[in-house]
Amino acid sequence: MKIAIASSNPHKIQEIKDILHGLPVEIISASALGVDMSRVEETGSTLEENAILKARFLHEKTGLPSLADDTGLFVEALGGAPGVKTARYAGEKAGPKENMEKLLRNLGNAENRRAHFRTVIAFIDERGKVHLFEGRVEGQIATQPAGDKGFGYDPVFYYPPAGKTFAQMDEKQKNRISHRYRALEKFRRFLWNRLSSSTETEH
Ligand code: IMP
Repeated sequence: MKIAIASSNPHKIQEIKDILHGLPVEIISASALGVDMSRVEETGSTLEENAILKARFLHEKTGLPSLADDTGLFVEALGGAPGVKTARYAGEKAGPKENMEKLLRNLGNAENRRAHFRTVIAFIDERGKVHLFEGRVEGQIATQPAGDKGFGYDPVFYYPPAGKTFAQMDEKQKNRISHRYRALEKFRRFLWNRLSSSTETEH
């Protein structure tokens, strides 16, 4: 089975390939299929809506089963912000540094620093049916950035079981517990069940 992925980020594509390794699927990025995902506006008010928007767009363009993900950082003391606006918290053109600065400024010296990352995966199957998977990881917003690995908000996301921020963990360690990994793992199990039951019905 071919699966189109609504991303052109080589790290994301590789992470998906690694997790689905061993399943009879071929992962193809949107860019390899000639689809420009930057044309899709993320206008949804939830991660689910945005993931579905992206997967639907790709499915309509390619006719292939399509997968898209959307991630947000939800900070309890900020009423769940930045949430669905995580990528553009400090403005459309803001980078991770500006986003983290805004987050730390808004949180000030709040005692409650609980936060979680949440990823939603939308998979549109060959019949156009939507399937959703979610993964989350709980942590704390650090009082200042620490570490230089990873990306995005990693330097301010402190993960208590490791006693480190995500940016202080090596990629392998982070990728085994991340929100994205947890959602992808649920997708892998779904696909595995689906592929084994379709083989059973064929024989
Ligand atoms: P996307 O949905 O994967 O594009 O992610 C949305 C936003 O969340 C981007 O600003 C990312 O930087 C941030 N983000 C997603 N996953 C992570 C992560 O694992 N660590 C830090 N930031 C992340």
